[in-house]
Amino acid sequence: MSAPLLGAIEAGGTKFVLAVGQGPDAIAARHVIPTQDPAETLGAAAAWFANAGTIAALGIASFGPVELDRASPRWGQLLATPKPGWAGCDLAGYFGKALGVPVELETDVNGAAMAEARLGAGRGGTSLAYVTVGTGIGGGLVIEGRPVHGIAHPEMGHLYPRRAPDDTFAGICPHHGDCLEGLVSGPAIQARWGTSLSHLPPDHPGHAIVASYLAQLCNTIFAVTAAQTVVLGGGVTKAPGLIAAVRAEARRLDGGYLPGGGGHRIEAPVLGEDSGIAGALLLAEAALVEGCQ
Ligand code: ZN
Repeated sequence: MSAPLLGAIEAGGTKFVLAVGQGPDAIAARHVIPTQDPAETLGAAAAWFANAGTIAALGIASFGPVELDRASPRWGQLLATPKPGWAGCDLAGYFGKALGVPVELETDVNGAAMAEARLGAGRGGTSLAYVTVGTGIGGGLVIEGRPVHGIAHPEMGHLYPRRAPDDTFAGICPHHGDCLEGLVSGPAIQARWGTSLSHLPPDHPGHAIVASYLAQLCNTIFAVTAAQTVVLGGGVTKAPGLIAAVRAEARRLDGGYLPGGGGHRIEAPVLGEDSGIAGALLLAEAALVEGCQ
């Protein structure tokens, strides 16, 4: 008997990526729809799934904040998102009813972390953080094979790094000014240097400044979570040479201290743009198991 067909949604602020397949490495069809108001977007997604085949379970990796506590009556709902109209949207409930299948749901970055841990940069290990550095900075965490959430999802962007010696930029975070996100997110780089990191000349000091802050982030994650691998994704991390520079700077800053026998790794996403949707398919696999209990 062949494996059942699974459905997956990577729900983002600008687009929803939909897929069906028999697993995270066996996508049979995919479709992208723009994120409009909830009724329109969810209706279009459900209509696509209805035509894509009979799925046995659905996984959703969503933008947030989203309620992840299974014991909460609001499980599966978007919480206080600034995206107009989406706060309170019952993602899991809607698709559970519309498609009549068990649903599992995580944050988008936790989904990406699950996929990279299982199939990508962390393959063979069990503990990995996935950090995206783009419009904002956000992170997901898998420890011992499980996505981590406590009172809410892990965050990772609004940390307070030691400032680089010549860096006087005040930062753009509306809450903290010069937190990590305020210093090196895509909009922060744009605000301080007038262009993206990829477009700065190779000898521009911005490359070393961004690498030094991201190296502090990686070492903080290693120290706090004992993750073996940090995957750096998102638009900013595509700047040529950045990940190698972060790796070298993290090693220099640590000075051989971190326990783990030098086994820590800082990597680009092996699954590329597919980390999120592959994670959603892993969530669908989990939903299938839970739904059969
Ligand atoms: Zn902040």
